[in-house]
Amino acid sequence: MTLIDQGHRVPVADLAGHRQAAWERQSAHVAANSAFYRTLWDGTAPPRRLEDLPELPFSDKAGLRLSQPAHPPFGDYLAAPPERVSRLHRTSGTTGQAMNLALSRRDCEITEIVGARAQALAGLGPGMMVVHCLNYQMWMGGLTDHMTLERTGATVVPFGVGSTELLVRTILETGISAISCTPSYPTVLERVIAEKFPDLSPADLGLRLGLFGGEPGLDDPAYRQRIRETWGMEPRNSNYGVSDVFCNFASQCEHETDLHFVAHDVLHVELIDPENGTPKPLEAGAEGELVLTHLDRECQPLVRFRTGDIIAVQATEPCACGCAGFRFRVVGRSDDMIVVRGLNMFPTMVAAVVNGFPELSGDYRIVLDAPPPHHVMPVHAELAKGRIDDGTLAQRLEAALKAKLGATARVTIVPAGTFPATEGKTRRVLRTYA
Ligand SMILES: [Zn+2]
Repeated sequence: MTLIDQGHRVPVADLAGHRQAAWERQSAHVAANSAFYRTLWDGTAPPRRLEDLPELPFSDKAGLRLSQPAHPPFGDYLAAPPERVSRLHRTSGTTGQAMNLALSRRDCEITEIVGARAQALAGLGPGMMVVHCLNYQMWMGGLTDHMTLERTGATVVPFGVGSTELLVRTILETGISAISCTPSYPTVLERVIAEKFPDLSPADLGLRLGLFGGEPGLDDPAYRQRIRETWGMEPRNSNYGVSDVFCNFASQCEHETDLHFVAHDVLHVELIDPENGTPKPLEAGAEGELVLTHLDRECQPLVRFRTGDIIAVQATEPCACGCAGFRFRVVGRSDDMIVVRGLNMFPTMVAAVVNGFPELSGDYRIVLDAPPPHHVMPVHAELAKGRIDDGTLAQRLEAALKAKLGATARVTIVPAGTFPATEGKTRRVLRTYA
């Protein structure tokens, strides 16, 4: 067992020497080869000590988005000669500009090792057969996630998306025991089984482990219970990552539902206040935006990269599963965070209160018509089909939001069907001011 395969089992304090040496190599590489960071750092040398990293400015997605069209295809944060690039991943670009991700052989190798740690913590390993049902077309969730699954020692069936009838037959005929997919995919399969295989129930497929990732909702106890009862399989978030950094560096284990960070040997973590960038200590109870720095990256190394994800640290002592990395929950996106009279509010918190009203559909928007500071939170909540507002609904929801979240809300009830039913990520926070 080398450090590189089992690095997540070593407490971060014991990795100090390794991490410092890695930073010295990495910072020299970035300073010498990344025009993007030379410009950002205004010609000054990066600090020698890893703990002095806050001396450097942040980088963010907006900077990368500007860099790629100006220096196609990889941006001027490509820090290796183009012939070192062995894999190009591309984000779909359906919601904006497509981004090109470059990985060297070594970058691929480390990405696989780190991803495999996460998948293994989630329960995958030798002797198991897993079918990988994410899209293989260009993005990291396909081929690169596949490689992380293989790296656990499991047998991996490369399936991709679509052809659900073939998928059901393949699972039945080969003894596949685990599925890697989005959390919403089991519902699609249930429909196909009901239509095309009337004699079968989902549990007859024999799946025992659901390796999910990529969408929120996994932590909902009702969802987890439904998956267990319908399928007889254990749902786990095995796949949390940030595509520009590592596609998978955290997962749940059999002991608890908090995400385990598995990459202290190759990734430096900072927590900051998303409002003003002030560093926060990485300790239980702390909440802040996740900022990441590669410690071992050839092609597109990032330093003090603001992920935009707000996390809440749950624990820092090793877990019963043997993982020594800190545990956390993803609370929301910094661009979705609203500060209402000093209280940090996220759409998920509002959703939890809205869902307690059977008269409402559960869909809602937070509509900000003026720039911050916000003294009240304007919430538009949608009536459920066939339900009527008795005239007190807005008032009752305002009272519940106040009682549960401490925030003053101004609620507007809107008719059923006001909000379009969309699959995937819906923007709950709308900013209507210029
Ligand atoms: Zn654990």
